[in-house]
Amino acid sequence: MRVCNNCGTMMEDNMVVCPNCLKTIDGTEQMIAPTYYPYVPMPQQTPQLGLKWANFLGYFSLWLGALIEVISGVKCLEIAGTETMYLGLGLVCIVAAIFSVIAAIKIIKRMKDAKLFVCALYALDIVSTVIAMLMSSSYGEFAWNRIISIMVSVSMIFINNYYFDNRKDIFIN
Ligand SMILES: [Zn+2]
Repeated sequence: MRVCNNCGTMMEDNMVVCPNCLKTIDGTEQMIAPTYYPYVPMPQQTPQLGLKWANFLGYFSLWLGALIEVISGVKCLEIAGTETMYLGLGLVCIVAAIFSVIAAIKIIKRMKDAKLFVCALYALDIVSTVIAMLMSSSYGEFAWNRIISIMVSVSMIFINNYYFDNRKDIFIN
């Protein structure tokens, strides 16, 4: 670029007269390096994934679940007596209730290991369903709905694992 000696207008090197004052360019003009505006990519904003499911778990479902687990756990322990199965089922329910509360708090606080507790809860679901199956099979019945329940719990472990893995940048505490 050149700067016009007369008016100071900047112009392209190949111009013969100043586009502003029409002074003839004679080669004595000051040369300046053209200003480049380097392409600066916009900072990549990773779209924040939704948290509907996590919030549903953390603010509602896990608390309700904990309440239900406590009630059924206490019920099982009350009637357990010497029956090991009921004792086991009752304890699993109580542990699940505690895990539910921990998982809910960890989700609310966006903690890294929230996933672990949510998945552990579904694993506990499987354990209690297996115990219930063993109990009912000793009475000679076989409940298909329990098989379905186990399949659902296994799927939920995979789904939640995937869900929380995709939100590692949200659950960072
Ligand atoms: Zn000029």
